[in-house]
Amino acid sequence: MTKATQGFSTRAIHDGQEPDPLTGAVNVPIYLSSTYAQEEIGKNKGHEYARVSNPTRDALETNLASLEGGTSAHVFGSGMAAIMAMVTMLRSGDHVICGENVYGGTARLFNQIVVNYGIEFTYVDTSDVGAVRRAIKPETKLMHIETPTNPLMTLTDIRAVADVCHERDVELSVDNTFMSPYFQRPIELGADIVMHSTTKFLNGHSDGLGGVLVGTTPKHKEQFAFVQKCTGGILSPFESWLILRGVKTLAVRMKQHDESGRKVAAFLAQHSKVRQVFYPGLADHPQHELAKKQMSGFGSMISFETGSLANANALLKSVRVCTLGESLGGVETLISHPATMTHAAVGEKERARLGITDGLVRISVGIEDVDDLLADLDQALAQV
Ligand SMILES: *Cc1c(COP(=O)(O)O)cnc(C)c1O
Repeated sequence: MTKATQGFSTRAIHDGQEPDPLTGAVNVPIYLSSTYAQEEIGKNKGHEYARVSNPTRDALETNLASLEGGTSAHVFGSGMAAIMAMVTMLRSGDHVICGENVYGGTARLFNQIVVNYGIEFTYVDTSDVGAVRRAIKPETKLMHIETPTNPLMTLTDIRAVADVCHERDVELSVDNTFMSPYFQRPIELGADIVMHSTTKFLNGHSDGLGGVLVGTTPKHKEQFAFVQKCTGGILSPFESWLILRGVKTLAVRMKQHDESGRKVAAFLAQHSKVRQVFYPGLADHPQHELAKKQMSGFGSMISFETGSLANANALLKSVRVCTLGESLGGVETLISHPATMTHAAVGEKERARLGITDGLVRISVGIEDVDDLLADLDQALAQV
């Protein structure tokens, strides 16, 4: 039940989650049932078979549609499964514009699987609205972007590119994983579809995989529900419940991620061993003004340049509170090396073109005491 008049935190805690009508349980139970009793032919209580729908999953989908301001949401077994479901809107011969610096797995899916079905991709620096305009062809059906990008934190003006897309009947999809709906709501800025890896900030505790597509039209609702039913890459009831639980604290977690993110970015920016910091919250970020306009916070994703692979390695093997690992968006601080981890599959040449150097380090600032994080980074940087 969506009451858009209520605030974000209220909706995060209540939408889709009325107390259980049978028992009064305030939490939506994990419904472990593959099938549902039917009273007579064609008569059921709204559920028939768990690939098609599940009450725990329904609650999460109602909740996420409300938070992103869409008309329906559809959850899948991972962020990649959600993107694959979105691709089923396309037909052979269609053309897609994709941000040139999207999540490595997204580019791998497009370039190594989806191209084999006669769908063409053009990678564009979508921070340049003119480049987006020039890339649109009569066959273009979809544009898929991330803002800010991973790991260089380049922004795309969502409203500007949405306008360009809509002039030419192209749908705009935004991977909103880095910001979460707490800080950025692309649909309010004109996007047609929002996608998330719920694995990251939405779940927030690094304990479950998931993905979501939030749609804005009856066609999205029909198509994405149909893909869930036909291909079966759905989210399990347990993971749906984990994300429902995670989302209840999304607002307070994001506030802390943002507050600590700003402090860590400021600390890195003044540190003599750090050559450059990429964070939209810093006044010298080239798109700081756009960041203030389209996001209500800057989040906690920060990248910084240490100068070389050896420097990055010296830092990464010395951290004690920060954990060296892939992924992001959890309560714990995760630190990673894009060139050899998230962006290894991109290839050396393309990394050089994008500016992903061997000395670049990415940090997802968690919600530990920020002084402990600063002390940890300080002692680790001393090893550089
Ligand atoms: C992690 C991630 C994905 C992929 O999601 P999975 O849940 O790992 O399949 C997609 N986009 C972004 C921005 C991500 O960080």
